[in-house]
Amino acid sequence: MKCDLLICGGEVVDSSQGLRGVRDIAVIDGRIAHAPDLMETVEAKCMIDARGLFVVPGLIDLHVHVYPHSTWGLDPDSIAAANGVTTFLDTGSAGSYSFDEFRRETIDGSRSRVFALVNLSCTGLLTGNLGELRDRRYADVEGVKRVIRKHPDVAIGVKIRASDYIIGTGEDGWANLRDAIRAARESETWLMVHIGFCPMSIPELVSELAPGDCITHCFRGDSTPIVGADGRVYEAVREAQERGIHFDVGHGMGSFCWEIAESALEQGFEPTTISTDLHQWCINGPVYDMPTTMSKFLQLGMPLEKVIELTTIRPAEILDQQEELGTLREGTIADITLLEPCEGRFRLTDSLGQHRTADTLLRAAATIRGGELLPGGGSLAGRHLADA
Ligand SMILES: [Zn+2]
Repeated sequence: MKCDLLICGGEVVDSSQGLRGVRDIAVIDGRIAHAPDLMETVEAKCMIDARGLFVVPGLIDLHVHVYPHSTWGLDPDSIAAANGVTTFLDTGSAGSYSFDEFRRETIDGSRSRVFALVNLSCTGLLTGNLGELRDRRYADVEGVKRVIRKHPDVAIGVKIRASDYIIGTGEDGWANLRDAIRAARESETWLMVHIGFCPMSIPELVSELAPGDCITHCFRGDSTPIVGADGRVYEAVREAQERGIHFDVGHGMGSFCWEIAESALEQGFEPTTISTDLHQWCINGPVYDMPTTMSKFLQLGMPLEKVIELTTIRPAEILDQQEELGTLREGTIADITLLEPCEGRFRLTDSLGQHRTADTLLRAAATIRGGELLPGGGSLAGRHLADA
């Protein structure tokens, strides 16, 4: 067999196929080739020694800010390798006034795969402090629908940050939320709602949502968390998840609390997806990157296969890309991440400055997008990379 890239001896973990075990992965023309047989001689243009590493589908981060023209935004290509992320979902950095430029400059101008949610506010997230929907005139349902019609391949849904200092209190808050829901329904897409300091209760909020919609920041602790005063996950939240509403982590600088995550998981409530909410103000901690966020879930006792599932095939399904992404099935796009489990004592910090000490930290050793090894990133630079 002749191939472009051969990843040898790594422990493959592919939740989409229920697969875990040591095997080689071959890539031909940017796609996953059939797994070489033990006895088969393989001629590879490039070979990666993956012994001691986990080989997983290219990670998909379902909550990031990668529109560099907003004050939150990071450049997706600059952060891809260190994150092990091949596909990003930008969650509402751009609104109807800025989306064309976002598409032209960032989405089309990047080699990373970037999908996006359109902010209900026509301004998007230009700044962090003004509250993009405090003025009701900024709620642009028709603009969101127009953007999604114009960019259906990348603009796949709607975003609202449902905090009182952003959407207003009382009737204003509700009117903005209902506009966001209407924009999602009328564009036949789905809505992601950021929670925290919500002007309505969580049970009231989830009762308005439909299957396919998503709550992000599901493990935040300081205000309007998914647990009630008795510390139990709201029955309404469990029912919502059973109805098909997704609960995304979206760690960020304010939205991941150890106690809430520990308690929710102990009560059998599992998030749908693990994401970073990576942006300018959390990339230097407490989030850092996707593998660090994944390590927090290992620390919480979640099995590795589940952590991989929640960062690969599950977000791929939400993006409706599961036929091509989030999997190492033969014939699919060769997006592959090599994760190195580093052993030691690592301090993992939540958004409230609380720590846990972990003995394993995942690091992105190599990131391969469409069969190409990305420059930069984790520790593989110091490993043996041989051209055949
Ligand atoms: Zn965010």
